[in-house]
Amino acid sequence: MIDIQPEASHYINGAYVEDTSGTAIPVIYPATGAAVARVHAATPALIEQAIEAARTAQPAWAAMSGTERGRILRRAADIIRARNHELSVLETYDTGKPMQETLVADATSGADALEYFGGLAGSLTGEHIPLGGDWVYTIREALGLCVGIGAWNYPTQIACWKAAPALACGNAMIFKPSEVTPLCALKVAEILTEAGLPDGIFQVLQGAGEVGAPLVTDPRVDKVSLTGSVPTGKKVYAAAAAQMKHVTMELGGKSPMVVFEDANIDDAVGGAILGNFYSSGQVCSNGTRVFVHASIKDAFLARLKERLGSVVIGDPLDEAVNFGPMVSEAQRAITLDYVAQGKAGGATLFHGGKAIEGQGFYIEPTVFSDVTDDMTIAREEIFGPVMCVLSFEDEAEVIARANATDYGLSAGVFTADLTRAHRVIGQLQAGSCFINTYNLAPVEAPFGGVKASGVGRENSKAAIEHYSQMKSVYVAMGPVDAPF
Ligand code: NAD
Repeated sequence: MIDIQPEASHYINGAYVEDTSGTAIPVIYPATGAAVARVHAATPALIEQAIEAARTAQPAWAAMSGTERGRILRRAADIIRARNHELSVLETYDTGKPMQETLVADATSGADALEYFGGLAGSLTGEHIPLGGDWVYTIREALGLCVGIGAWNYPTQIACWKAAPALACGNAMIFKPSEVTPLCALKVAEILTEAGLPDGIFQVLQGAGEVGAPLVTDPRVDKVSLTGSVPTGKKVYAAAAAQMKHVTMELGGKSPMVVFEDANIDDAVGGAILGNFYSSGQVCSNGTRVFVHASIKDAFLARLKERLGSVVIGDPLDEAVNFGPMVSEAQRAITLDYVAQGKAGGATLFHGGKAIEGQGFYIEPTVFSDVTDDMTIAREEIFGPVMCVLSFEDEAEVIARANATDYGLSAGVFTADLTRAHRVIGQLQAGSCFINTYNLAPVEAPFGGVKASGVGRENSKAAIEHYSQMKSVYVAMGPVDAPF
């Protein structure tokens, strides 16, 4: 086993910092349940130190040219790619996700974000607005100090998806990872320093909600970007709103995937597997309500059963394994409770449903069929590997049922009918949608939800609007025309 104990718990002002008086947070390897490292929550003194360092460093960072800032971000992307294997191993220890995934989806996705926003940084400008004689120009300004708060399912990716646009725009960021997965963001901070980032511009503080909350309410913080659950999002949004702060909220979902009768069944089954079992089902945008046209339901389920036969469950460090443990005992218990509710509620347990005996937080990939809209498992986000298969008869019906939820993160449609694909997607209430695939999130595309699933967008040029603000300047070219 490699030594994954970080040099210290926090990363403040360009260096690792320790203070063991903060609450101890064990890092549990989900595949064994063993503690493999330990960090401590940030004390109020460390929070103060990080905020002061950020406030001191940020003006000079914002005053650099975008091209200079971008060069540092792109250098960090190169370092991440060069160290991908080591970072993927760390991600696997932090989350339990199989190496087969972490080698291609985590550090690499973080590097994509740093590269993309590094490339954009030099082109971030205001505009010139002619008014005849007079004119207006706009200046795109950094917000100042941004706080990023992460969920535990994609610790490297979330840190980079927030840091890259924030830093490209000239902000400083203090990032608080989830207390469940504290390790990966520290590496991102270390690599940014190695790439030339000035001290204090990207810092990491550990801790749970009691460290996140004072960061959100500190008047020196200008923006909060949270990835987490809807209940946490409501609390954090309300706290930020009290001081009129900017927010980005990337929250949960219960997204629909609609499979029409003319769909390629193998592709639809593949999409349903990607959208329910990747990362052991712990993905916010998962299409957990799979609406399958009644005429192909049996064929869909038969093919799904066959493909589930080739799942390889085991040690996530083994690259042949394609299905790892859940992140924690607690998350597995929540999932098993939903499985019990599914059975009690009358759904048919079509596949899986049991915890796997032995060490680690494993649970079988689970499929319920004959699910109806009113069942708890069809209404609430489970955040585990539980697919609900529902059937439908016609297009208008399935659109109405797909939209009958408070959430609106993602939606997918599988069909061979070109016009139907676009017509249906156009009516589904969701921010990140897919046609004939599921759960692909390239940095070039906006990512985020509508309704209770969130506010704002990550990735793409859209993220720039959420990490900068416009100053407009009216320039008079003649005498002032006053009434008296
Ligand atoms: P969570 O809401 O429990 O915690 C998220 C983060 O918020 C953690 O870092 C936590 O310490 C912090 N936090 C908790 N209370 C806080 C408070 N009062 N003030 C400030 N910070 C506080 O979520 P989780 O269990 O870590 O993650 C799972 C959830 O995240 C799921 O609902 C999932 O759908 C969602 N998620 C969304 C996206 C997205 O991009 N939309 C991505 C990944 C996960």
